[in-house]
Amino acid sequence: MELTEEQQKKLQEKLKNLSPEQMQELIKQQCIFCKIISGEIPAKKVLETNNTIAFLDINPANPGHVIVVPKAHHQILPQIPDSEILDLFNSVKKIASAAFEAVDAKGVNILQNNGPAAGQEVPHVHVHVIPRFDEDNFSFTWEPKKLKEEQFDEIQKRILSKIPSSMEKIETALEEKGEVKPRLP
Ligand code: 5GP
Ligand code: ZN
Repeated sequence: MELTEEQQKKLQEKLKNLSPEQMQELIKQQCIFCKIISGEIPAKKVLETNNTIAFLDINPANPGHVIVVPKAHHQILPQIPDSEILDLFNSVKKIASAAFEAVDAKGVNILQNNGPAAGQEVPHVHVHVIPRFDEDNFSFTWEPKKLKEEQFDEIQKRILSKIPSSMEKIETALEEKGEVKPRLP
């Protein structure tokens, strides 16, 4: 249904005036995984904990392909509070083992897409658990990008600068190897 110009204006005005909580509620109402969590949409659930659920992917890459999600709506992995991460990855670990055994797989891939560029279609954080079989025609291979040593060094430094807690430890190791100049005392 196409909205008239007047209706569009009214809608935009309404959205502008929503509180962050109301906006979050609206996002949840549109989210397919939130609907599965609330039971509004059916799914073949295989695990439920206080903070996570897991269900069979409707378009599986292989038999036993499971989606594990936090019950709280977060869009991408970095937005999940630390307090919810442990439960999520405990569930991933349980499912990786259960799905592997259930379908008599030869291996399991864990896949987690963040953002459309990374192939994320459903904007609610989720982890794919994909059982693997010999010659199952599923591929994770890529053409390696050629980077110079200085480019690796620059990228390492940039990432380290975003994680101050690990910077000191790793920089000290690099100093000891003579790969970066010692810091001033
Ligand atoms: P993404 O590309 O976002 O990482 O993966 C989303 C996954 O969710 C896809 O593999 C897709 O098949 C699955 N999916 C999307 N909608 C539904 C649904 O309504 N039910 C179930 N069970 N899986 C879904
Ligand atoms: Zn959601």
